[in-house]
Amino acid sequence: MPMIQCENVSFCYDTENIDEKNAAVKNINFSVERGSFVAILGRNGSGKSTLAKLLNGILVPNSGRVLVEGMDTAEDENLIPIRKKVGMVFQNPDNQLVSNIVEEDIAFGPENLGIDPAEIRKRVDRALEIVNMTAFKKHAPHKLSGGQKQRVAIAGILAMKPECILFDESTSMLDPQGRAEIMQTIRKLNREENITVVIITHFMNEAAMADRVVVMDQGSIVRDGTPREIFSQVSFLHSIGLDVPQVTELLHLLSEDPALSGAVSFPEGVMDEEEAAEWIVKLFKARKNGCTAI
Ligand code: ADP
Ligand code: MG
Repeated sequence: MPMIQCENVSFCYDTENIDEKNAAVKNINFSVERGSFVAILGRNGSGKSTLAKLLNGILVPNSGRVLVEGMDTAEDENLIPIRKKVGMVFQNPDNQLVSNIVEEDIAFGPENLGIDPAEIRKRVDRALEIVNMTAFKKHAPHKLSGGQKQRVAIAGILAMKPECILFDESTSMLDPQGRAEIMQTIRKLNREENITVVIITHFMNEAAMADRVVVMDQGSIVRDGTPREIFSQVSFLHSIGLDVPQVTELLHLLSEDPALSGAVSFPEGVMDEEEAAEWIVKLFKARKNGCTAI
């Protein structure tokens, strides 16, 4: 059974006027496998946040259904078990922190779930360890850096022992260092803690870290594949207002340059800097040898 399954899911914010035309999410069929790391891409307004909220029952579909480990999000009695299983981290860490002391902040979620205080203590310590913030447990959250605040917010979710975490543009308000910290944390949650991860991002190099990339446009899923399969389609992505990682773009431009034609046939969808560098070295060698094809 998948962790999360969407069957013909549509959602419209305007409940008086439910119609395919003004639906934010249209007829989505998609599932998230347990243990996977999925990235969702799409320009502003394409329905990514709406889909994320449908995945953990914050929103309920107008038609179709969403199942979290077989539990329908439309059934009221499933809501608490679903929220325990699927956590969500948002864009702005300041809106997610509620207490003046880091460890109290992290304890807030499990306290609301009515968990035993001794168990909460263990969970808070473990969550701090996972996000590498143990040294800050007595600190005031508002004095931390953006990346540190976001890691505290993640620890607060971890303390509820979720099996899946949805990250809705959780790095977009951070500086490059904060972004790197969060991506490193997310990767660790997936690889070492076996947490299923769904990230929504507009940073292509973050999407490249996932096992699978889902592309949305105008409320629909328009592509679903490995990062390499998706980033091979540079012209398509440009046509729906998206970029590809910079190295991918660079090799794509070189492959299209008539002056270099025939020198090297660059593969599409290269995301790795070292792999790109190898191809550029091949290009230099080919040029030196008078542009014979290699
Ligand atoms: P994304 O996260 O990809 O930017 P959203 O899911 O936020 O996209 O939005 C999808 C569509 O739904 C957009 O047309 C947006 O204007 C609309 N929308 C989003 N949130 C609301 C809301 N709370 N009320 C009404 N319309 C909304
Ligand atoms: Mg959004």
